[in-house]
Amino acid sequence: MSTGGPTHAVVSPATGRPVAEYQLAQPADVDAAVSSARAALRGWSTATPAERSAVLAKLAKLADEATADLVAEEVSQTGKPVRLATEFDVPGSVDNIDFFAGAARHLEGKASGEYSGDHTSSIRREAVGVVATITPWNYPLQMAVWKVLPALAAGCSVVIKPAEITPLTTLTLARLAGEAGLPPGVFNVVTGSGADVGTTLAGHADVDMVTFTGSTPVGRRVMAAAAVHGHRTQLELGGKAPFVVFDDADLDAAIQGSVAGSLINTGQDCTAATRAIVARPLYDDFVAGVAEVMGKVVIGDPHDPDTDLGPLITLAHRAKVAGMVERAPGEGGRIVTGGVAPEGPGSFYRPTLIADVSEQSEVWRDEIFGPVLAVRSFTDDDDAIRQANDTAYGLAASAWTRDVYRAQRASREIHAGCVWINDHIPIISEMPHGGFGASGFGKDMSQYSLEEYLSIKHVMSDITGVVDKAWHRTIFTKR
Ligand code: NAP
Repeated sequence: MSTGGPTHAVVSPATGRPVAEYQLAQPADVDAAVSSARAALRGWSTATPAERSAVLAKLAKLADEATADLVAEEVSQTGKPVRLATEFDVPGSVDNIDFFAGAARHLEGKASGEYSGDHTSSIRREAVGVVATITPWNYPLQMAVWKVLPALAAGCSVVIKPAEITPLTTLTLARLAGEAGLPPGVFNVVTGSGADVGTTLAGHADVDMVTFTGSTPVGRRVMAAAAVHGHRTQLELGGKAPFVVFDDADLDAAIQGSVAGSLINTGQDCTAATRAIVARPLYDDFVAGVAEVMGKVVIGDPHDPDTDLGPLITLAHRAKVAGMVERAPGEGGRIVTGGVAPEGPGSFYRPTLIADVSEQSEVWRDEIFGPVLAVRSFTDDDDAIRQANDTAYGLAASAWTRDVYRAQRASREIHAGCVWINDHIPIISEMPHGGFGASGFGKDMSQYSLEEYLSIKHVMSDITGVVDKAWHRTIFTKR
């Protein structure tokens, strides 16, 4: 929505050419969107769970029917390969919408009962209220769904700001929600940059909660803005996932898994495998195998179903990724493959493997968010777990082993919101996604995410009917 600001072109990262144009919202539009969400809140939050569920189920159906359009928009604005959008982004989003249509009817709480003896206590789960949410550009549709759907299922109304460079599928999602019967004002989109509308939304006095997915530094700024008003927050931030290969691992599976896990979405994935920590006896074969598989990856037109790897999101982001890779040899890293951009238009970058990196090096410690895997070896299991946990982030991790005890230990001791065993990347609507430490807090997806958008209210009703209640003796000593 906009009262009439300038327009903005959405540019394909694969070609550098514009693919769409839309109107930017102004800070005044944020006020209007929040007012509209506030006005719509009562009606939506007092609809029955079954009524909310029916609208969301219809939205899942409409989104499924709009798959071709959603895929086309996602590929055009992000440059992600059409296979990824077709097999992961859109069906995953549809399934997530469908999950929350069901979850809307499954509110949970402790049993009502006479816990004090003199009262009946019961639990109410109520919508938190108006939710402001801010999302990134890497999975625009999925990130919007992960934030908006649990909020709607809980009975909240929403104002979402997608990334300025990738608003298309969020706008389509909102249109489809209207067609599904979502009442006007419940789901509002404000377009525009973080500096303009993002800051206004994050610091808005009249929202009740601020949820954010994006980088750690911006997430902390958003949290600070929300804290001025004491608003509830939920943050899904950056990651630097370890990929631990023990000496009994299936080496071929680990090699293929690390390439898939590091290159998905051109490495622009918060859970991407970025730090391979490999047992010394397997190290040389692992490095050689990863280089070989990376060398076979097909880079090209994201609309071509044979393309494996699309471009990075912008030329500016490619320059950041390239800069980090170029500085790696100065810190001891050995570029085994990649480290260059192919000729031609678009912000493409070759799959890159950097071996022998030092523990303090930038490529080992900082989020690169590109198709880059760094590798180190470890001496024993204690060293492997120590290296995996030697990061400020804690979003995701994987351990590769055939030994059930090692797998159990890794899943217990690695400090991350998700630990995969012998895989890296899969997600599922029923299970939570969310990190620890610099990766944020709170959960997306699953029933746990619904909880984020619900308040717990205790209702305690006297069942004695007496004036002189037992506990009054603590006040009226002389009676
Ligand atoms: P970003 O730069 O932090 O931006 C995220 C969103 O915040 C965008 O909509 C951006 O708007 C907005 N924004 C920027 N500055 C703001 C401010 N001062 N106040 C309010 N909003 C502001 O992140 P990104 O580059 O889009 O996304 C990549 C990051 O997201 C990576 O760090 C990645 O790990 C993380 N991520 C995490 C998860 C997860 O689940 N943990 C999932 C996906 C991505 P504009 O871009 O329009 O200016």
